[in-house]
Amino acid sequence: MKKVYIFMGPPGCGKGTQTAHLADFLNLPHIDTGALLRAEIAAETPDGIEAKRKIDKGQLVPVELVGRVIKNRLLKEDAQNGYILDGFPRSMEQTKILERIQEEIGLDVQNVAFYFDIENHALVERLVNRRSCPVCGKIYNIISNKPKVEGKCDIEGADLIQRTDDNEETAKLRFITYEEQTKPILDYFRSKGILHTINADQSIEAVWNEVKEFIID
Ligand code: AMP
Repeated sequence: MKKVYIFMGPPGCGKGTQTAHLADFLNLPHIDTGALLRAEIAAETPDGIEAKRKIDKGQLVPVELVGRVIKNRLLKEDAQNGYILDGFPRSMEQTKILERIQEEIGLDVQNVAFYFDIENHALVERLVNRRSCPVCGKIYNIISNKPKVEGKCDIEGADLIQRTDDNEETAKLRFITYEEQTKPILDYFRSKGILHTINADQSIEAVWNEVKEFIID
């Protein structure tokens, strides 16, 4: 049976940093839905154009679109040994779609979900201060997790970028979407006995240690 690790939590909770690390640790693909959608936007595909309209408003991209993008990604060779889902599913409807896609693909999988528990009050500030490398995707925070050289990626030396939806106004709308649509999935995963709650209000290293405990069980 192949393991599928599903990461959930409010915007800015730190799951992107941890899932990237976990992907290296387990040698499994890190499937970041937001990044897949941003790649569609950069390529100016019809899906990208439609996704951008929703992303700019802090809303979820239509379920058929995101389901299609995810299914295409899960069919790739590197996802046949298990995978890490970052940002999908994000609603009960998407949860059902994930289960359906997994059945259609026919890989024997066991889903394990992680909930990054953290108070929302400091997260808008975290999002506004977030920067990332356009080449390797490494995430920084200009206050708490600075690059060695201001504005440059430690690994690639590339100029760091800020996501257009990491502004205060859109960030607030993303929290509303999270509370209304994503949080209800937690009860569903809990009822299936597959949810692990992580205290995400700690240092990157301390969060990683908690995640690791559930991986190597
Ligand atoms: P993220 O990079 O995870 O913060 O996602 C950025 C934006 O992409 C979200 O605010 C949504 O507009 C969109 N998005 C990401 N994942 C999903 C998803 N599973 N379903 C619908 N929209 C999504």
